[in-house]
This record gives sequence, C-alpha cells and structure tokens, in this order.
Amino acid sequence: MVAKIADVLIPLALDTAYSYAVPDGLALEEGDVVQVPLANREVAGVVWSMREGQGGNLKKVTGVIDAPNLSPKMRKFLDWIAWYTLAPKGSALAMGLKIPDMDRQEVARVGVKLAGALPKRMTPARQKVIEVAQDGAVRLKSELAHAAGVSNGVIDGLIDEGTLETVALLAEPVAEMPDAGFGQTGLSDGQRDAANEIVASMGEEHPPVILLEGVTGSGKTEVYFEAVAEAVRTGRQALILMPEIALTAQFLDRFAARFGVKPATWHSGVTGRRRERLYAGIASGEVKVVAGARSALFLPYADLGLIVVDEEHETAYKQEDGVHYHARDMAVVRGKIEHAPVLLASATPSIESRVNVERGRYRHVKLPERFGGRSMPKIRAVDLRREEIPKGRWLSPTLVLSVEDTVARGEQALLFLNRRGYAPLTLCRACAHRYECPNCSSWLVEHRFRRSLVCHHCGHVERTPQACVECGSIDSLVPCGPGVERIAEEAAALFPDKRCIVLSSDFPGGTERLRAELAAIAAGEFDIVIGTQLVAKGHNFPLMTLVGVLDADIGLTSGDPRAAERTFQMLQQVTGRAGRFEKPGRALVQTWQPDHPVIAALVSGDAERFYEEETRVREMAGLPPFGRLASLIVSAADREAAEAHARAMAQVAEPPPGVTVLGPAEAPLALIRGRYRYRLLVKTEREVDLQAYLRGWMARCPKIRGNTRVSIDVDPQSF
Ligand code: ADP
Ligand code: ZN
Ligand code: ZN
Repeated sequence: MVAKIADVLIPLALDTAYSYAVPDGLALEEGDVVQVPLANREVAGVVWSMREGQGGNLKKVTGVIDAPNLSPKMRKFLDWIAWYTLAPKGSALAMGLKIPDMDRQEVARVGVKLAGALPKRMTPARQKVIEVAQDGAVRLKSELAHAAGVSNGVIDGLIDEGTLETVALLAEPVAEMPDAGFGQTGLSDGQRDAANEIVASMGEEHPPVILLEGVTGSGKTEVYFEAVAEAVRTGRQALILMPEIALTAQFLDRFAARFGVKPATWHSGVTGRRRERLYAGIASGEVKVVAGARSALFLPYADLGLIVVDEEHETAYKQEDGVHYHARDMAVVRGKIEHAPVLLASATPSIESRVNVERGRYRHVKLPERFGGRSMPKIRAVDLRREEIPKGRWLSPTLVLSVEDTVARGEQALLFLNRRGYAPLTLCRACAHRYECPNCSSWLVEHRFRRSLVCHHCGHVERTPQACVECGSIDSLVPCGPGVERIAEEAAALFPDKRCIVLSSDFPGGTERLRAELAAIAAGEFDIVIGTQLVAKGHNFPLMTLVGVLDADIGLTSGDPRAAERTFQMLQQVTGRAGRFEKPGRALVQTWQPDHPVIAALVSGDAERFYEEETRVREMAGLPPFGRLASLIVSAADREAAEAHARAMAQVAEPPPGVTVLGPAEAPLALIRGRYRYRLLVKTEREVDLQAYLRGWMARCPKIRGNTRVSIDVDPQSF
C-alpha cells in the first residue's frame, strides 16, 4: 500500500535523514519539527522531505512539535553548510534548530491591585500592603510584597479574601521595534555617499556583497546603520554579526541612539526562556534586528533583508570545533540564498575579501578618512635593540617618557600585550624544570592574581607550588617573559600615583563587570590601561591618545602563513584606538625588527603596499585565496593509534592532478587535552572541487576504530 513517508533529519552527528511513515490524519509539511523514535528513545527532528512509498515496515512519526517550521531557504542553507564543510548534515541542523523545552511552562505574568473588600482580620503586615497598594497601581505580586516588606504569603491571603485582585499582564515583547527614523545622524559627505550606494544596491534583483572598507574611526558603523534602517523601513530583518566581544554596551547604546531601542542580541550568554522566545520571534518575523555572534547566522529568519559582518577579518568568526565554518563566508552564502545584500565592514579587510573585490565578485565602498577630519595616529617604531631596558622590565625608556607626558596631560595610555596572565613560562632555577601541561604539549602560564598555573589550551589549572614539584627547592620558581599581569606590575611600579587597570579575558567578575570597566575607561576613570586584544577592538575611548605596543613581534614568528596578515590587522586595530576623538593620537610600537614589512607598512601608513606584497606572496605560494586548503586532524588518546590511522589514510589519498596531500606530520600542537594529533594537509588549485575530492578520499579510508577521531577543516585559518 502506498503511504506518505517523511525523511526526517535528526540533529545529531548523522549524515542522512531517516525515513518514517506518516500516520493517517497527521498533517505534515516539509520543514516541520516532529518527534520520532530512534533506537529506544524519542527524539526531535525536522522533516527534510516528503514522498510517497511503501511505508509498511517503517516506524511511524510520533507527533508534531510546536516549533517554527524551517523554511526551504533555511534547509537549503544547512544542506550547503554540510556539503561545504563535510560535516554530517545532522550536525549542521543542530546549529540551526532550537527545540522548545516542553517541560517549561510559560509562567503567566500576573499582577495584583487593590480590589476594595476589607480583610476579615487586620494585621500590621496586611496594613502595610494596603498602604502601598492604595495608589491603585498594578504590580507584580513579588514587587508588592517587596515594597511592603512582607512575604508573598501575605499577598496570597489578601487575594483570597478579595482585598486584592489579580490582573493578567501582557507578556513583554521579546524585542522592541526599531524606528528607522528615530535619531538620524548627520552623516559626512563621504558617509552619505557610501550609505546611498549601499542602500541603492539593496533593491537590486541580485543584491551584492559589499566590502565596506574604512580606516579605524571613519564611521563605518553609522554607515551600515543606514542599511539597517533601510531593511527596517522595507519590513525586512537585519542581522549584524560581530566578533563576540564587540557586543559592548557602547555598541548597544549607539544602536539605541539611532533606532530608539536596543537590538535583540544573540550569543552564548542568551539562554533558557529568553533564547526560546527570541528564536520564535525571529522565525515569526517579529524581531527585526539581531546583533549576534557567529551562531546568530543559523537562526530561522522569516525574511532576512541584510547581513552585516562587522570586523569581517576577525579570526573569531571561524568556528574550530564541531562543524568547522567561517561565519563571514557562510554569511555570503546565506545572503545569496535569502536574496539579501551582505556588507563586510573592516578597517583591515582580509586578503580573501580584497581579492574577491579584485575579481569583481564583491563591490567596494570606501571611507578613506576619519570622521570629523580627525587625523590618524602617528605611529613610530621603537627599536628594542637600541633601548636600555633593565632586566625584568619591558617598557622602553622612550615609551615610559611618552606615558608620563600623556597622563600628565590628563589623557590615557594603553599598553598592549597580547598575552594573558603573568608569565608565559615558569621554570625552577634550581633544577631547570619547566612547568608543562599534563594534557597538552604546551607550557603552563602563570596567573599571579589567581595564584595558579594555567594551560591556555585545555584549561588545566594547578596552584602555583611553593616548592618545586621536581626537586623540592623552596621559592625557586622563576617567571620567564611577560604577560599583561606582569606589565601591570611594572606600570604600577613606574607610575605609582596613576590609576591602572589590567584587562584580559581572565578579568574576574564576568561580562557585566568587564562592560562596567570598559565604560569606566571611556569615562576617564583610569590613566593607564594594560590589556590584550580584548581592549584593542571596537571600543571608543575619548581620552586615549597613546597606544604602546609592547611586543609587536609576537605572532610574526609563528610559522603560520597568515601570521603577517594577522599581525598587521591586529596592530592596525590596536594603534587605531588612539586619538579617535578631538585629541590627536600616537602609537609607539616596540619591536626587534623595525624593518620587517609588517612594521614598516604600519609605521609608513602604507597599508596598500603591505596588502599588495602579501597578496603576491600568497599567489606565488598557491595559498588561499589562490589555491584551496583543507586540514585533517587525526587524533587519539594513543599516539601510535593516531599515527597509524593517519598513515593508512595517506596511503589511499590518491591525489589527482592539481591536488597535493602533505603529511601526516605531528600537528603544531601535538597533544591537546590528552589526545595526540597528526595532521594531513590538502592543497589544491583553485578550480579543483575540493569537497568532491575529500568525499571520495574519505570513502576509501579504513574504518575508524576505538577513540580515534578525524576532523576536517576546510579553509583552515592557521596551518
Ligand atoms: P569605525 O567603525 O569606522 O572605526 P565608528 O563608526 O566607531 O568608526 O566612528 C568613530 C567615531 O566617530 C564614533 O565615536 C562615532 O560616534 C563618531 N561618528 C561617526 N560618524 C558620525 C557622524 N555622522 N556624526 C557624529 N559622530 C560620528
Ligand atoms: Zn626544581
Ligand atoms: Zn593543557
């Protein structure tokens, strides 16, 4: 007998949809969220396709779950992600599906107000409540109890006796409606032209991808707000993707100044009921603007009309576990599927995006000048070979003098070092033992405030020992090299009467405290800020006029082909913190290699030359975006097992012309979290269908045994 069959994709690491019979009378559509039996459990899944067939011996769909239907566009997007990244389809779905928690009932918001009937018995507590409620206002039960200083029980008693009555309150909207005309900014001519060009393109039949390039402080945010306003005016939704840390109070306030309300935000800190309601509001189209971290790209927008990727060059857009994807690249794909323009904003675009402009695939809109005619900071290299710095100190005399000058004028200085903790390496002066992570091939980093040694790869923490664990010597541990905590100590010693603050992702007290401190810096409550890249990005500190980079060479020696690009971007960003407001800024960059192309380009301000040179190097080496790359990591708890499996894979690699397979070799971090890692690198010419080749290869590989794992990273960011 012919029956209706639903192919249901389950959000687990499964590559195909499973078929289930649809019981008579159950109305189902593609994209519906359903409950189905799997092994011995009931799980949720999404109807990926419907067909007719012989359903006789299939298990049946158990029921429909009250969750937003996933549109054809959304399903197409998830299919594409799985195809491109080689992740199981179910894993891609897991990123885009939120199943409502059925156990969590909506708690009705009930208010109470005075009804009039006198209580049968009067007590002082009841008297208090009546006094507070006298004004006739509707309050939540808990609010009233709090205001009267009584327990909820007293309120309940008064409701029972008819003295108070309950009133149902409307649920608060999950996000308020942005008003496109609320606080229109007077744009500069350059900003106006840029905004007009972008807005005009939004109505095109095939909306473009636009690279919005403008130096730090040129006012890109105000420009893309105009694109957001246009999306809101036309009733479509807008998504602003940001590197997570950039979701600052400052950004939200700027948004509110322009649109009257804050945008809905989506990141790992949004949880529980709020997360569910936002998800539903985005699917229904009620939520118009979402500002979010990369995961916001996988939400089921009802009608997405614009995607902005702010700081498009940021490495934080790359997800490197589970499904390995780059949110910027996936945003471009989603934009195409949704017929939405995609705006990539950056002061220091990725080489990939610049090459896409050259190839005519992206349009280019530029803001060459800082807003309000403010000048770019003057950048100078401080040649460490010529500076006399006492042992155990890292601030050169030149930098110290500049900091003194700056703070004496009532301005702020930022001392930038992209290294968390106190010292990156700890050793014993008696026996030379080096403190290493037991789970990883990496040194333990001393965190003095926490009195611990910490692994930055797996999170392993141990108390800093009093006696050397190896030889038992007392107080023999020596910190080697600086982290921000150590620089903070130096700054405190050099400038004892100045207010210093050290900021890194270790900052105690969580995001809220951090936001408060960033606001305090902006308000001028500190003189010297010592920080990692956490403070380098996206913030506007009006009084900050000096940026000192302590070690510009960190990162240049990593051996990673993207090292130069990354370092250049980071240094541009951090030096760009200086002088963003009325006061002109300057930056001092301490380096051992003042002639290095990255440093030279930074100092001369000739970004163009750096990019041209770097692009040429990539092209000659056949590296992305001129060739394609994938990295395969084989890992296992047992070193031999990992290596043997990697070798067996290499044996069946059978690379066709245009494809090179390198390795296996020990991965750059050979041991992480107790797993040994071997790496195979696939390098292909640009025209090669990398995904097809990888699929064919994986099909030939021996079966994976035991706890061995193979993880594939298409377009790896570091290699
Ligand atoms: P970018 O993102 O390009 O680094 P921002 O958008 O943060 O630059 O702008 C830099 C500063 O200039 C901010 O303080 C912003 O408020 C201000 N600004 C930019 N455009 C305008 C404008 N049209 N009117 C007033 N202030 C502006
Ligand atoms: Zn020792
Ligand atoms: Zn570790």
